[in-house]
Amino acid sequence: MRILIVEDEPDILNLLAFNLENSGFEVIKAEDGYKALEKVRRESPDLVLLDLMLPKMDGLSVCRRIKENPGTRHLPVLMLTAKGEEADKITGLELGADDYVTKPFSPRELILRIKAVLRRAKPARKEATEWKHKGVYINFETYEFRINGEKEELTATEFRLIKELIDNQGRPLTREHLLSKVWGYEFDGYARTVDTHVRRLRKKMGPCAELIETVRGIGYRMN
Ligand code: CA
Repeated sequence: MRILIVEDEPDILNLLAFNLENSGFEVIKAEDGYKALEKVRRESPDLVLLDLMLPKMDGLSVCRRIKENPGTRHLPVLMLTAKGEEADKITGLELGADDYVTKPFSPRELILRIKAVLRRAKPARKEATEWKHKGVYINFETYEFRINGEKEELTATEFRLIKELIDNQGRPLTREHLLSKVWGYEFDGYARTVDTHVRRLRKKMGPCAELIETVRGIGYRMN
């Protein structure tokens, strides 16, 4: 699980990163609101840990942007608030933030909150064995794949690729993300591999090919 920490105070940022990494999370950092939104778009985190007092764009504005965008609306946001920010906390929850932790917090409590939010946010479809959308039918247990009722054969890689896109439906995924999830590469450098496989997958999807959208400068998204 990948957590984006948005915090401008380096000491707190490092402390948070240290604790999250120790608990097995992958950490991405942003020091202001603009960088936060950019990293949400480019790095597809699983959760945003969002300080409210930030330079340039405050945390509430960041939260509003995340929750207004259909592509990121389901991304869980856990606010970090200070004493005296009660009103902001409520505004944040009204904007769609999933929970909050008040500073000073114990690392243990923070980790528990993060895990609880992630558990709640887990879309039900991740547990589903089937996915039906427009003319596409896919069964994740039997590996059956049909387009408008016609059976198509997918390779194991194409299957993992479409599953990753479906699990993140509506979210743009970077080529790097797909490489690491589908192929297991830990580094960037084979972005064309992704393009080649998406092209083949789209061909097999025929009239439904446009469900996989190319997101310019980023990668792909299942619509
Ligand atoms: Ca701050």
